[in-house]
Amino acid sequence: MSFDIAKQSIDYILSNPELFNEPSVEFDFIGGEPLMEVKLIDRICDYLKSQMYKRNHKWFNSYRFCFATNGLLYSSKDVQEFINKNHTHLSIEITIDGTKAKHDLNRIYKDGRGSYEDVVKNIPLWLEQFPDCGTKVTISHADLPYVCESVMHLFSLGIKVVNINVVFEDVWVDGDDKIFETQLLNLADKIIDNNLYENCVCSFFVENIGKPMDQILDNGNWCGSGKMLSIDAAGNFYPCTRFAQYSLREKKCVIIGNCVDGIDSNKLRPFLTLDRTTQSPQKCIDCEVASGCAWCQGENYDAADTDTIYQRSTAICKMHKARVRANNYYWNKLFRKLELEGRREEYNATHKKQTEKPC
Ligand code: SF4
Repeated sequence: MSFDIAKQSIDYILSNPELFNEPSVEFDFIGGEPLMEVKLIDRICDYLKSQMYKRNHKWFNSYRFCFATNGLLYSSKDVQEFINKNHTHLSIEITIDGTKAKHDLNRIYKDGRGSYEDVVKNIPLWLEQFPDCGTKVTISHADLPYVCESVMHLFSLGIKVVNINVVFEDVWVDGDDKIFETQLLNLADKIIDNNLYENCVCSFFVENIGKPMDQILDNGNWCGSGKMLSIDAAGNFYPCTRFAQYSLREKKCVIIGNCVDGIDSNKLRPFLTLDRTTQSPQKCIDCEVASGCAWCQGENYDAADTDTIYQRSTAICKMHKARVRANNYYWNKLFRKLELEGRREEYNATHKKQTEKPC
């Protein structure tokens, strides 16, 4: 992206507060690897801050710059200068996937070498600067045997929050749900038996998932697509980054405007009318374990029979059901232990209820 494209996009967004009327904002820099362009990002952030200040914009005191990075450049001079300058308005997530074996399955250099050793050496500095930030792990078919040991490894590195989910794409084969469930049951035992639940969080275990949904009260769209304006290097606007051409396998990209002409509200409107019932098959509406069963709007579109965004992909169905079974085991075991120790109330008071949040 050139600075001019970023500037035009910022000018459009800040000049139209009636279209962007949320009280707070996150500016998320998504690559490839965003920290390769930290000097450009620094310039963009400076422009954003100065414009919000000059316009007396309500976001000036309520903004955040967010990054998911592979962590390789984290300790470099330029990145550290950027962090020191913006620290109080930054969220940085380093994506380390778990053990060396798990991480190096996917995160490799061009010549095939794994990147684990180069990332892990930056973890202590990252945790010193952002002790409350978590890491983000994505699980696909080949990763399943490593789930338990990988989460435990991340906890052992001092990472307290492991945000983890299975991919939405249809990569699952017969038996994957059983492997997944076994991995999660082992993980539940390790977290509870070693009292790790007191300080650590793995997002696979959430108290409120696995229940039927109320069709009226819980009819919101899971996914934030349409409310997360995404801008590509040429200044095209998308409902979220998953609708850009580089994110799609089968379908044509969905452009809803650009930084010169702004948002075309006719193209955005279908995204704003999406909810649970308009896109779910009947089996999901009637499902006994529907809460927490997520979807990705971009994957729904990519996997649909036609060019519609109103056809929910249910490729993760058996993986969600496996997760729910393990989740029930986790909370039953944890609450029984706490009750035997007379610590249930103390736990409830000190641990805010963790709820499943959409992206
Ligand atoms: S995809 Fe499967 S588990 Fe999820 S809501 Fe639909 S039927 Fe239930």
